[in-house]
Amino acid sequence: KKYSKDEVLQKAKDLGVEFIHLQFTDIFGVMKSVAITIEQLEKALNGEITFDGSSIDGFVRIEESDMYLKPDPSTFVIFPWATQVKEARLICDVYDKDGKPFDGCPRNTLKRILKEAEEMGYTFNVGPECEFFLFHTDEKGNPSLVTHDNAGYFDLAPVDLGESARRDMVLTLKQMGFEIEASHHEVAPGQHEIDFKYDDALSAADNIMTFKMAVRIIAQQHGLHATFMPKPIYGISGSGMHTNMSLNDLQGNNVFYEENGKLQLSQEAYYFLGGILKHARAFAAITNPTINSYKRLVPGYEAPIYVAWSASNRSPLVRVPAKRGKSTRLELRNPDPSANPYLALAVVLKAGLDGIKNKIEPPKSVDSNIYNIGEEEKDKMGIESLPANLYEAVEELSQNDVIKAALGGHIYEKFAEAAKLEWNEYKARVTKWEIEKYLTKF
Ligand code: GLU
Ligand code: MG
Ligand code: MG
Repeated sequence: KKYSKDEVLQKAKDLGVEFIHLQFTDIFGVMKSVAITIEQLEKALNGEITFDGSSIDGFVRIEESDMYLKPDPSTFVIFPWATQVKEARLICDVYDKDGKPFDGCPRNTLKRILKEAEEMGYTFNVGPECEFFLFHTDEKGNPSLVTHDNAGYFDLAPVDLGESARRDMVLTLKQMGFEIEASHHEVAPGQHEIDFKYDDALSAADNIMTFKMAVRIIAQQHGLHATFMPKPIYGISGSGMHTNMSLNDLQGNNVFYEENGKLQLSQEAYYFLGGILKHARAFAAITNPTINSYKRLVPGYEAPIYVAWSASNRSPLVRVPAKRGKSTRLELRNPDPSANPYLALAVVLKAGLDGIKNKIEPPKSVDSNIYNIGEEEKDKMGIESLPANLYEAVEELSQNDVIKAALGGHIYEKFAEAAKLEWNEYKARVTKWEIEKYLTKF
């Protein structure tokens, strides 16, 4: 159930809530929070709580630091793990001191693109599939890379030591209003996936942030560390965040479905797909925003590398899952869980809308295993690769006005600046691999 402002006030009082966490997400996908007491809740709901924006990465300069938090009452949730005192949270939009939506707030960015979609007659639905690893912690509580569990895909207990943690995660998420559709062990040891029901894109992005927080907290309670880092261990699968996408019309009909269409997909679905493929190399910087993201996008681990689509094959960037009717959707497979979900959904939606606006036809589907097609053949077919690393991704983004406009100047500048800094820091490092390779050879 989604609450209104008055209902939140009433509910918080009835339940004896003492603390409310006002949450928002910075440009880099990190959740921030300002805690208030129940006495301040009404003021908070009126958007009168300020915080120092200059203390947040990529927000504002010191001189213009006063920012306002506007809670979205429909996001009111009790923290099931807070057992001493009752605590709740509200997700907020950030406003500047003149009362305008702050353009460095990713949630505002997603809302802006959703409005563009609505003006075209669409709402955007998203179902994410978040994968993550559970690692043991040492005596001091520091995470290790040890999983102890050798279970594989869909394996059952007793080999799966993360199982009880995952069961608790599912129960906790249900208490927080999530509808869990599936949860299972993934391919790699210690790797898991929990899927929750699709929702409108704004709720889906809120849910992803809430999900990551809850999973980390419950893991901790089990003496484990949950990580959404895309590729924590070389040589085994990384963690993706496959993103199932569909558009509805304003009456709630799935516009991707067309009974008589090719593959029962509508023309809009094909154009949307065309836009996604056209802009994929540019939005990769946002859907795969870390140095580590690109260590996942390599052959052999069910992660995509090539910009292509298929209805029958899992290797390409976009897959069309078999379900039709209301469930007709496109599955975008490159996003990973280190992405800022608000920005990631904003850029992929923008790419798809651009496809519809400009009637961008997608290339022919590639239904054989792409990894088995030779380089020359691939060139002939015009199949491009995703960026090989963060540097290439940011370069690609810098040349794409559609995706840059979706992010807005402020976020684009801050993001590109930070990514370049990270790249420069990284590229100067001498790795273990190099030592092994060259120390004795030269
Ligand atoms: N872990 C794989 C990835 O990196 C995806 C596995 C799957 O198909 O669920 O995207
Ligand atoms: Mg999976
Ligand atoms: Mg999937």
